[in-house]
Amino acid sequence: MRAFSHPDEALHDPQFFLTRGMVRRNFEIPARAASLRDGLAQLGITPDTPSHATAAQAARLHSRDYLAFLEHAAADWAAMPDSGPEVVANMHPTPEMVAQQGEAVRHIIARSALYSADAACPIGPGTWAASLSALGCALAGAGEAAQGRTAYALCRPPGHHAYAARAGGHCYINNSALAAQALRDAGAARVAVLDIDSHHGNGTQGMFWERADVLTISIHGDPHFYYPWHVGFAAEVGCGENLNLPLAMGSGDELWLGALDAALARIRMFRPDALVVALGFDASEHEPLASLRVTGDGFARAGAAISGLGLPAAICQEGGYAVDHLGALLARFLGAWAT
Ligand SMILES: [Zn+2]
Repeated sequence: MRAFSHPDEALHDPQFFLTRGMVRRNFEIPARAASLRDGLAQLGITPDTPSHATAAQAARLHSRDYLAFLEHAAADWAAMPDSGPEVVANMHPTPEMVAQQGEAVRHIIARSALYSADAACPIGPGTWAASLSALGCALAGAGEAAQGRTAYALCRPPGHHAYAARAGGHCYINNSALAAQALRDAGAARVAVLDIDSHHGNGTQGMFWERADVLTISIHGDPHFYYPWHVGFAAEVGCGENLNLPLAMGSGDELWLGALDAALARIRMFRPDALVVALGFDASEHEPLASLRVTGDGFARAGAAISGLGLPAAICQEGGYAVDHLGALLARFLGAWAT
């Protein structure tokens, strides 16, 4: 199995994070990628370095104005007197404001408010280049899948919380969604995105909400108790094809793998030509919140079960923050994939 990573992903080194009223060090850190590369090395896989993606490639699903914001936000912010080191919005326009808005906003503070969902996506000087290098990995993985093979893309920053025009939850450009779009563009009639990160893949669901050619499935912690709080419920059904499988907190391997069986049954019914796996490891028992308490054995069984679909797949890295365990979990998951 080929794998892709890019050294420029380390240019994104976010500092700010706000949780439960506390400002903390952001935990979406470059050391995550080093751990994941160690996992690839355990399998004897040396990742290739793809080209950066372009803004035009990101624009297949993201809006041009949002991408222009991402590209220039750090410089615009730095040019503002008394600014901090990263772009962090301290307000977001309410639905009432948006409904009554008379003019397009230009000030960097106003645009940061408009184009971000929360305080978990600070933008620094290296965020744009890192995001395009991560997307380059995802698109290279999709290129392999378009040739009938399976590949792993070590994407950092992750992407599945990013909407067409909004960053959020450590995500800026939606790598998994754009991998699915790339597979469509390469000729796949139908593509399924299976998201097993412990958080709902809300950005991906949002991007394909009205499309019947891309099935989005997400297995995640119940949003009654967990980010992204407002979406990810089982009753959400778009105009296209989507399925949410929320699980009680602390559910463990058997319930998680049971939800995976339901997801795989839906994928078989959908009859896709290719698969994108949005692979997060934050369902792991080793995570600080231990939201779903999945073991290494659980991830190995998941890898074997998903590969049993027999579909070419682009496996795109999403979350997972127990840095010391990420490499071992990746080795278990990919090692069980029938190649
Ligand atoms: Zn996550």
